[in-house]
Amino acid sequence: MSGTTEDTPYAATRAPQPAGEGTRAVHAGLPESEPYAPPMPGPVLTSHFHLPGDPADAPYTYGRDGNPTWTALERAIGELEAPGEDVEVLAFSSGMAAISAVLLSRVHPGDTVVLPDDGYNLLGPLGEQLTAQGAHVRRVPTHGPELLAAVEGAALVWLETPSNPGLDVCDLREVVEAAHRAGALVAVDNTLATPLGQRPLELGADYSVASGTKALNGHGDVLLGYVACRGGELAAPVRRWRKLVGAVPGPMEAWLAHRSLATLHLRVARQQENALALARELHDWPEVSVVRYPGLPEDPSHEVAARQMRRYGCVVSFTLPDLGFAERLLGAARIVESATSFGGVRTTAERRGRWGGDDVPDGFVRLSAGVEDAADLIADLRQARDSAREG
Ligand SMILES: *Cc1c(COP(=O)(O)O)cnc(C)c1O
Repeated sequence: MSGTTEDTPYAATRAPQPAGEGTRAVHAGLPESEPYAPPMPGPVLTSHFHLPGDPADAPYTYGRDGNPTWTALERAIGELEAPGEDVEVLAFSSGMAAISAVLLSRVHPGDTVVLPDDGYNLLGPLGEQLTAQGAHVRRVPTHGPELLAAVEGAALVWLETPSNPGLDVCDLREVVEAAHRAGALVAVDNTLATPLGQRPLELGADYSVASGTKALNGHGDVLLGYVACRGGELAAPVRRWRKLVGAVPGPMEAWLAHRSLATLHLRVARQQENALALARELHDWPEVSVVRYPGLPEDPSHEVAARQMRRYGCVVSFTLPDLGFAERLLGAARIVESATSFGGVRTTAERRGRWGGDDVPDGFVRLSAGVEDAADLIADLRQARDSAREG
């Protein structure tokens, strides 16, 4: 196993785990203070390390296997995903690299795997890849009774809650219990919630997997992914896959993501506040047929979400009358930027139907609340709506 030793010059010493999550986020993965050393060591930009003699016990050897900058980030994420526990975290070059690593290393020919049919749009092609490799793929909605029935005979159950972009939620404890009873592993895509919004490992999941590209990094300048799990046995096949495929993050990306964790609690709190304010605003518009936000008390997901989520995230989805209205509104917005992805400090929105991969109406918009002032965002959406009404 690479990157876990304490005695290298760059090794982060595990700091005491404070109770407050803000304090924990600010200090996550950082070394103990040492006179004249930087509080956060810079990115270690190297492809290889000085390596005399037998490499078996070397903490770092080659840049595809480990790097002190990853180690620090992986520890930081571990401290947030499962505070006070010793979990294994593996950083990847993107969320898809992390997702593929779990699914392709843990699902074998003849195995049955359960995938949501309303989750991230690349789960479709990934399911086709698994089928081509001899697996049986069951695709079921995140919300509803099919999911519980589908776990029977499965080797692995993949969950995405809240789902992107429909924002449905499943009861993680209930599904995990049923899946484990049936002998299946459970992996949860925790991208939307972030570890400050939901801790899948504490809710019983075997793997918590996420794209760090979104709210975790939050600045829209990095692609990154990770897998968190308890124990080397669960981590080993995923680690091997990362090495074979070489889906490793650059040290600079890992460093930028780690630096961003210091503000994660501030960002997610403000984003949640803005998302709720926008969801309430959109709820009152005559043009909007459906608004979804798990933090909205009247949302169909709210009750389950409140039981397992600590925060409800930054994504709001809503349905406008048609493609034309949605495009006119998005085109007229001045603060809300038209862009894909979500979780960043700047508010963005897009008509998901433009990609063709999600089963959504033409007027369906996914909005990601940033950290601007809610009043400005509401004013911007109102002027954009008025402009869209004029045609
Ligand atoms: C964006 C996203 C991914 C993919 O992450 P990348 O970093 O873009 O590869 C996976 N799952 C969810 C829920 C996402 O939103």
